[in-house]
Amino acid sequence: GNKLGSKKERTLAMIKPDAVNKMGDILQMINDANLILTKAKMTKLTWKQAADFYTEHQTKSFFHNLVQFMTSGPVVAMELMGDEAVSVWRRILGPTDSGVARKEAPPSLRAQFGTDGTRNAGHGSDSLASAARELEFFFPSTAGHGPANTANCTDC
Ligand code: ADP
Ligand code: MG
Repeated sequence: GNKLGSKKERTLAMIKPDAVNKMGDILQMINDANLILTKAKMTKLTWKQAADFYTEHQTKSFFHNLVQFMTSGPVVAMELMGDEAVSVWRRILGPTDSGVARKEAPPSLRAQFGTDGTRNAGHGSDSLASAARELEFFFPSTAGHGPANTANCTDC
């Protein structure tokens, strides 16, 4: 049930190429956290798509390595829904650097399935605004282009 004062949110979760073969374990973690999987898509990002997704990091020293990694194999993009889904999913991911995650949050997704600071198994939107942009990136709304995509939507 929806506890009094809780906020139902949607977030964009992405399983990066190094962890796509761990989807079974990851779906278990999603389920255990009471998040609901409402959309999912496996896709191989082009260089331009990965660079656009991470455009906020385009001036960083790690940007090229990041885009190279993100285009090295398929990713799984998911819409997750639940109470405080944005922060709950980021807590499941753990710290950005998988090495740090293994010290600070051993059960986290990045601790278990990531390798280092770039190859870190998963992505999660960092705010509701990012979630809106990133959900639109992977699951574009069809407003103005035919019937609304409401098949999996319980409240719209
Ligand atoms: P997060 O994914 O935790 O939101 P950021 O948005 O800061 O982290 O960075 C996006 C992605 O870029 C990270 O998930 C990671 O793959 C890579 N990255 C971030 N910081 C570094 C770094 N210092 N060195 C190498 N790769 C990095
Ligand atoms: Mg980020």
